[in-house]
Amino acid sequence: MTTPQPSGGDSFYLSDVSPADKPWDVHRTLAQEVERLYQLSNEPRYAGRIAACSKELCFALRASDEGEIKLKLQDARFCRVRHCPVCQWRRSLMWRAKFFQVLPKVSEVYPTGQWLFLTLTVRTCPLEDLRDTLAWMNTAWKRLVQRKEFPALGFIKSVEVTRSHDGLAHPHFHCLLLVPVGYFKRGYISQARWTELWKDCLRVDYTPIVDIKRVKDRSKASKGHSVASEGEIDKGLLKAICETLKYSVKPDDLIADPDWLAELTKQLHKTRAIAIGGVLKEYLSEEEPEDLINAGIEDEEISEDDPKLIFDWGTIVRRYKKR
Ligand SMILES: [Zn+2]
Repeated sequence: MTTPQPSGGDSFYLSDVSPADKPWDVHRTLAQEVERLYQLSNEPRYAGRIAACSKELCFALRASDEGEIKLKLQDARFCRVRHCPVCQWRRSLMWRAKFFQVLPKVSEVYPTGQWLFLTLTVRTCPLEDLRDTLAWMNTAWKRLVQRKEFPALGFIKSVEVTRSHDGLAHPHFHCLLLVPVGYFKRGYISQARWTELWKDCLRVDYTPIVDIKRVKDRSKASKGHSVASEGEIDKGLLKAICETLKYSVKPDDLIADPDWLAELTKQLHKTRAIAIGGVLKEYLSEEEPEDLINAGIEDEEISEDDPKLIFDWGTIVRRYKKR
């Protein structure tokens, strides 16, 4: 059997043909590790589904205006397992894309609106109590939203769980809040006050760690235009968006321990990762993105004549290889 040779130099692997697509190798490698852990923790169903995830990727080949080669994902099959690193990554990209799509509309309707980035935490808990802890945090969040002082017109709230070195779970909320311009003029809520409010809503006797940041959005100049690409969004806002709409559990924590992963999977089963409220509900749906290829965002049509490139996942080399 002859091994196909790279046609020119290094163009054998996806990451060589298109360095921008290197994350595929990174996330697919992690998926392979999560698959192994599910196998070890006796969850063969999840392992099997992840093994079949994004095994082949079909890209349409394009030349950019500058004459560079660009690959546009056209077809792939995803396993949709909640903690599959590939699907998790795709989902966060799709969420981001959805948000970028509605941002110009939100800016148009609320031209003086400001963004805040709020992080709400509680003490670490045994992983076995994570589900109950999240339910309790959500109740506290509802109380917070109903407080007269709560300033947001709309919010996006996501759940992140990190693993402490001793295997405890540290759940926290990341929230992006849209507040009216008067919020800063009237006297904003200080970090100390946010902490007090959260403590009150949790009804605990310790002081939880709360962080509040104003997100400077200097992309205002482009308001009224269609903000569609990441490059046109202010870096501060982009960072807060990425932080809010990322994975719920970071890959390193997923692959730390098979028993932890199995219990985490049980605890988070069918819990909501992202919640949207207030006026932002009019623009964004809470539903998990269905389409993990292009978020249903209108793009230049791919024509049948566009050349296609197919890459297969190499479980040994841990890279996508040109077929
Ligand atoms: Zn997957």
